[in-house]
Amino acid sequence: MNRRNFLKTGMLGAIMAASPISLSAIGEATKPVGKSGRLNLSFQPYELQLRHAFNLARNQRTTTPGVQVQLEYDGVIGYGEASMPPYLGENVASVTEFLSKLDLSQFSDPFRIEEIHEYMESVAPNNRAAKASVDIALHDLLGKIMNQPWYKIWGLNPEKAPNTSYTISYNADPAEMRKQIEETSPYKVIKIKMGLDHDKELVEAIRRVTDTPICVDANQGWTDKNKALEMCHYLADKNCLFVEQPMDKEAIDDTAWLRERSPLPIIADEFMQRLPDVRRAAQAYDGINIKLMKSTGMHEAYKMAVLAKSLGMKVMLGCMTETSCGVSAASQLAPMVDWADLDGNLLIANDIFDGMKIVDGKVTIPDRPGIGVVPLA
Ligand code: MG
Repeated sequence: MNRRNFLKTGMLGAIMAASPISLSAIGEATKPVGKSGRLNLSFQPYELQLRHAFNLARNQRTTTPGVQVQLEYDGVIGYGEASMPPYLGENVASVTEFLSKLDLSQFSDPFRIEEIHEYMESVAPNNRAAKASVDIALHDLLGKIMNQPWYKIWGLNPEKAPNTSYTISYNADPAEMRKQIEETSPYKVIKIKMGLDHDKELVEAIRRVTDTPICVDANQGWTDKNKALEMCHYLADKNCLFVEQPMDKEAIDDTAWLRERSPLPIIADEFMQRLPDVRRAAQAYDGINIKLMKSTGMHEAYKMAVLAKSLGMKVMLGCMTETSCGVSAASQLAPMVDWADLDGNLLIANDIFDGMKIVDGKVTIPDRPGIGVVPLA
């Protein structure tokens, strides 16, 4: 199905099939014809095409599986999304199976966010991206009903949204490497992946071209705590802001040892999933990276940000490869965080929404209700 048909017609059929509209519910007499007073969930797989292949150690990936979700209530539609990079353990089959089990038509009040999450947890554990897709659609729907974007509902100042980082990786070809570095010029922070060979070569190549601050994601790649500490000192001299997940997520004692000595903040990513992980992270990390596809969406992500800040921790906001739907949902939280890594929609070639923009390197939240997206026709 092409994206136009999916967004404009296909979903309506699915809505009808998943949950027939009923006008027999209590109170319907006062409602205009066609308003069901019930939540109707529908969904459709949508594969994300990557602009540039991800080169991994053993293979190459050119797509990310995704599922697009719509939640309808009284004619208002909220949009949501699940993105499933393979390493997180969810896929199109698991997400559609989970969503098929949900009966959201039992909720006549869409504002029962807490109860809807409790219900989703009761249906099956895990399935975090699947739950996030419903949560995002629900927030979009509620924001539209209230006619306000979520940053306003949360009382946040959009001016306080940080710059986003833009990720580049090592390339053995010096000309290609230089081209990649020059492409980061619109951004105020460059994120680099480390933990492989060539870590220092990559930093030196960047510093030959630009003084732009860098942040480093080691993706658990540093195995020796003394070498990790040496890298932190080296990076501190290279205008690095922080180091994300330097060591294995299970190496809590070594990470705590490193945190005590590192001149740079140490941020948890692979270690982090959901709210209970925030207190655990406080033992060994200076901050956390929150991603909606791991946190089950915006509701819990907000709680995680509040808890982390109350514990004096730094907060970073990340994403997967996502359309502007998921990234715009995340951007609503941006004024609460210290750093953002919201480049997921820039990495795909087949976005189906207009939403959050990066303006002069800064996360710029759409001035529209809900999560701020409109489907691209
Ligand atoms: Mg990371």
